[in-house]
Amino acid sequence: MNLEQELHKWFGYHSFRSGQKEVIEALVEGNDVFAMLPTGTGKSICYQLPARITEGVTLVISPLLSLMEDQVQQLKSNGWKDVAALSSFLSKGAKERIIKQLHLYKLLFLSPEMVQHPVVFKRLKQVKVSYFVVDEAHCISQWGHDFRPDFLRLSDVKHQLGNPPCLALTATATPAVQQDILTQLSIDEAVTIVHSVDRPNISISVEQTPTVKDKLEVIRGIIERHSGAGIIYFSSRLWSEQIARELMLNVKKRVAFYHGGMSNEDRILIQQQFMAGELDLICSTSAFGMGINKQDIRFVIHYHYPQQIASYVQEIGRAGRDGLASSAYVLFSEEDKGLARSLMTHDHPSKDEIIQMIQDCQTTEVPSYGGDVATAHRFVRFLLERFKKRNRTVDDFVSIVESHFQQRERIKAKELYLVEEWLQTKECRRERLLSFFSEQLTSRPVRCCDNCGLKDQPGEQASAIIAVDQTVPHWRERLALLCHQSKGGRG
Ligand code: ADP
Repeated sequence: MNLEQELHKWFGYHSFRSGQKEVIEALVEGNDVFAMLPTGTGKSICYQLPARITEGVTLVISPLLSLMEDQVQQLKSNGWKDVAALSSFLSKGAKERIIKQLHLYKLLFLSPEMVQHPVVFKRLKQVKVSYFVVDEAHCISQWGHDFRPDFLRLSDVKHQLGNPPCLALTATATPAVQQDILTQLSIDEAVTIVHSVDRPNISISVEQTPTVKDKLEVIRGIIERHSGAGIIYFSSRLWSEQIARELMLNVKKRVAFYHGGMSNEDRILIQQQFMAGELDLICSTSAFGMGINKQDIRFVIHYHYPQQIASYVQEIGRAGRDGLASSAYVLFSEEDKGLARSLMTHDHPSKDEIIQMIQDCQTTEVPSYGGDVATAHRFVRFLLERFKKRNRTVDDFVSIVESHFQQRERIKAKELYLVEEWLQTKECRRERLLSFFSEQLTSRPVRCCDNCGLKDQPGEQASAIIAVDQTVPHWRERLALLCHQSKGGRG
């Protein structure tokens, strides 16, 4: 089979991008494949093309509903009728129709919870599954960032579906997390295709900013020097809101905040506005960004320094998908060390909470905790399922859970230490970042890092001061409400 011809036939592209063909060849030959390709490479083609040219339905397990919806819309607008996202966004009737006609689909996107739903799972066992794709596969590793306990059961699911060839995809995973992905998915023999995580078009700087005032000054300067969109990452929801409000008053940019404490509807609204170019700046926790396919994000600022090198690389990688010059800044303050330390243990439940979680786990429904508590709860639930067959006492089980969380804490402390060491280094920051992924820098870009003499040129990328759009009152009102601006008539 001529893969180039198939690529052209189905997607209109004349050649593969680096990595794509190797992944597709290995997969269609029936191998399990682990692929780490940087953001913007075109990871989706790696399963979309095999899905098209192979009999059966390809399952894509993805952690994000919005990501699935985006892809399905995009494929449908290109004339693909036999694709769907089986998600909670659909009406009951629509879900039932898809489940009934499952055999007619080529590509089906599902969350890890949905693929385990008894009705869906029963039906999946009756059809031929051509490939089992795990997108954002680093979510399976409890040592990595973005850990999702529901990913831990995927190996079992895959096994019960007859072990179709599995493709695990990620943009960023340290060697330890890569190994964990292979182990957790039981694909130890997988063909491994790992590309550099380096993004030469993104410069890297650490700014010494002892006070909040310093941070705001530096942010204003960055905003003035860059004409495009940007993201500012915070380690707390409260900070993301407060600084967003401050910036709304003081910079002529369209600013919003985004975090996991907001309703689904509001988050989707903000995300869509940002994608559509109707917002310039998002002040966010790490909840924002996965799957954001916006080409022209020009800068990413970390208001608080990150907890892990891998999450940092993932977050700055959202800038410059179009390949144009972009910048990443960390605003460092000694005072942030306290916050960084407290985050290490904030999802660590107490003994009483663990006992409560065990009781909650006896019910079939997962209680509606939010954020990290939900992650901790799902993790406890997973451990309980694994251990309950062995007739353990509650005390035994509590100590098993506690030792798991202590181990996570030790690993998080080590990760944080590496970040703090990197922040203090006088060597090339890019080289050091790559070394965490066992990589060497092969060619140093001109705009490398502050330690390599990078200086932002004032006026080099003159800021186009964009007036707030007055033509969409509905969205403006929603935003004003969201940001509580209506009080006191701000903005
Ligand atoms: P990733 O998931 O790796 O960040 P995507 O799969 O979203 O990247 O693809 C990024 C963009 O690259 C999409 O617009 C996609 O259509 C385009 N693309 C993918 N493969 C090719 C190719 N071989 N030639 C040209 N464009 C491509």
